[in-house]
Amino acid sequence: MTIRRFRLAALALSAIAVFAPSRADDQPISQLPYTPSLDPAAMDRSADPCQDLYQYACGGWMKNNPLPGDQPSWSVYGKLAQDNQRYLWGILEDAAKPEPSRTPTQQKIGDYFAACMDVDAVEKAGAQPLAADLARIAGMKSIAELGPILGSLHARVISNGVLFGNGVEQDAKESTQQIFAVYAGGLGLPDRDYYFKDDDKSKETRAKYVEYVARMLELTGDSHERAKIGAATVLRIETELARASLTRVERRDPYKIYHHTAPAKLKKLVPGFDWDGYFAAVGGRPSAWLNVSEPAFFTEVGARLKAEKLDDMKTYLRWSLTNMRADYLSKAFVDEHFAFYRAYLRGVKEPQPRWKKCVGWVDRDLGEALGKEFADRTFPPETKAKTVAMTNLVVAAMKDRIQGLDWMSAETKKHAIEKLGKIRNKVGYPDKWRDYSTLQVSRGDFFGNVARSIVFETNRQLAKIGKPVDRGEWGMTPPTVNAYYNPSMNDINFPAGVLMPPLYDAKLDDAPNYGNTGSTIGHELTHGFDDEGRQYDGDGNLRDWWTKKDGEEFEKRANCIRDQYSSYVVVDDIKINGKLTSGEDIADLGGTILAWAAWKEATKSEKLVPIDGLTPDQRFFVGLAQWACENERPENQRLLAATNPHSPGKYRINGVVVNMPEYAAAFQCPAGAALAKPADKICKVW
Ligand SMILES: [Zn+2]
Repeated sequence: MTIRRFRLAALALSAIAVFAPSRADDQPISQLPYTPSLDPAAMDRSADPCQDLYQYACGGWMKNNPLPGDQPSWSVYGKLAQDNQRYLWGILEDAAKPEPSRTPTQQKIGDYFAACMDVDAVEKAGAQPLAADLARIAGMKSIAELGPILGSLHARVISNGVLFGNGVEQDAKESTQQIFAVYAGGLGLPDRDYYFKDDDKSKETRAKYVEYVARMLELTGDSHERAKIGAATVLRIETELARASLTRVERRDPYKIYHHTAPAKLKKLVPGFDWDGYFAAVGGRPSAWLNVSEPAFFTEVGARLKAEKLDDMKTYLRWSLTNMRADYLSKAFVDEHFAFYRAYLRGVKEPQPRWKKCVGWVDRDLGEALGKEFADRTFPPETKAKTVAMTNLVVAAMKDRIQGLDWMSAETKKHAIEKLGKIRNKVGYPDKWRDYSTLQVSRGDFFGNVARSIVFETNRQLAKIGKPVDRGEWGMTPPTVNAYYNPSMNDINFPAGVLMPPLYDAKLDDAPNYGNTGSTIGHELTHGFDDEGRQYDGDGNLRDWWTKKDGEEFEKRANCIRDQYSSYVVVDDIKINGKLTSGEDIADLGGTILAWAAWKEATKSEKLVPIDGLTPDQRFFVGLAQWACENERPENQRLLAATNPHSPGKYRINGVVVNMPEYAAAFQCPAGAALAKPADKICKVW
């Protein structure tokens, strides 16, 4: 249930401290606070649940939880994530004390954190950490030198993004093979569409962006005039890269981003680029094949290399490097980066406190070392056992649903059940923890620690090529308040962070737990069968196992969901892009239907009674709704509408229950009520 996660004039900048003053919640904690997963105080009982479940279940929460100044949005998930961060902060402060009793792991995470918190050293270093790479860019005599320089940047300084990105992935059609891949990238605005939309707001955003780029170029030594010219160059180059990039909706089609390519063909695709030098600098080469995710984009990279003046490419590279590293540099860089990406684009009022950034970076770079400390303290085996049992019931409910579908042939059902049987679930934390022993962390060198972490991760990824796939690997760290389905692994993953109150709550009855966590489990499971996931088989291979008719029947039902969500307004005149959100919307509906069935099965021999004035059925739905309570800044809503495949919380709840007759029955909603759709209008896929 992936949760998300950039106006301010230059005048306001000087008034903002980089490191915000302390607030009540600006303290580490040694015990996680408890909030029940169904919290009557979070409700607004004056609202009519037949008109708006979200307001009914979350109205109190929205009133009592105003947006903190450093947040673009605030939600039940976000608040729990911050509690987890404060708890990790406590662990890291202890680990940072240079006691001889520290374990090697504690020493590593503690020293990384201490170096990050040493703002005097970071301030003193200024832009110095970039100096060698900036000098190398400035010294380029021809485009022919770009390959090794870019490879070195990708491997050591920024794992991704300058001009394009790279990675190692499971071959989409041969999931047992790990292959090298290159991706479209190189854009400083949040999405390729930002470069082309011609409404007033989009024009304003580009104007602000160019001003921001110019200020960054000035910080790296350009005169004011030169920086203005440079910023226009950056926008021009990025616009051409954006034009050649697929849209987010197009990228949801796995066939559009899968292009098995021999290295020799890649060289033809981007003439003039030294791929050998690039791969040598990255530190690994592709085997017989690599995936060139967007060939048209790489053709454009070739065209840019030919058309652009060397000086203009240097400006673009200098800008990209500085922008992507800005948050790790001194205050001048951090402030500019904040002012554009978080204040202007996302409406955030103040920067995050330093500790929060540092905890986040330890979580990113040493996540399983820190995560083990977290899981050891917070995730008891009983919770694991209970949530695994819940998962099994949700999977069983899915099997029943598939067997009972009236629109799917027996042949396709057989394949669907086979795929379902092969899904692995991973709960809490990895069975085998990542070994960071080769990663060197120095207490006095924050930027160096970040860079060495990138090298460590690059090497860890490259080492996968040609080796068996590690099915036990996790794509999220244990404290993460999120969950995911991976189509190539065909597994569902629930970190410890998403299985604690106010989400999974061992103190409460089953109804809200199935409504909340049961639906999350069902959501991830349904991703295996959404418009994207259904194209992969049980072994994680992109392979069409559907009859033509069944595929068409599926699409008909998915279109019902797309049309429904496309009618919802996000902010101002912006509506949900139902083609972008359809996988998540299908998963939300399917997940809740599965959780309902699993809950009924789990409690069939129990006599359930009302609690807090809510019947058991009502508790299921209020429990469901309360995971999604949130407050959003309008600026952030605008950005998310363009980039986030998830619908806003309100529609993730009301948009689901409107398709469940069980909901209208639970609240005895009269015909014609907003959340009581006529039977013939109901959307249902799974
Ligand atoms: Zn999802």
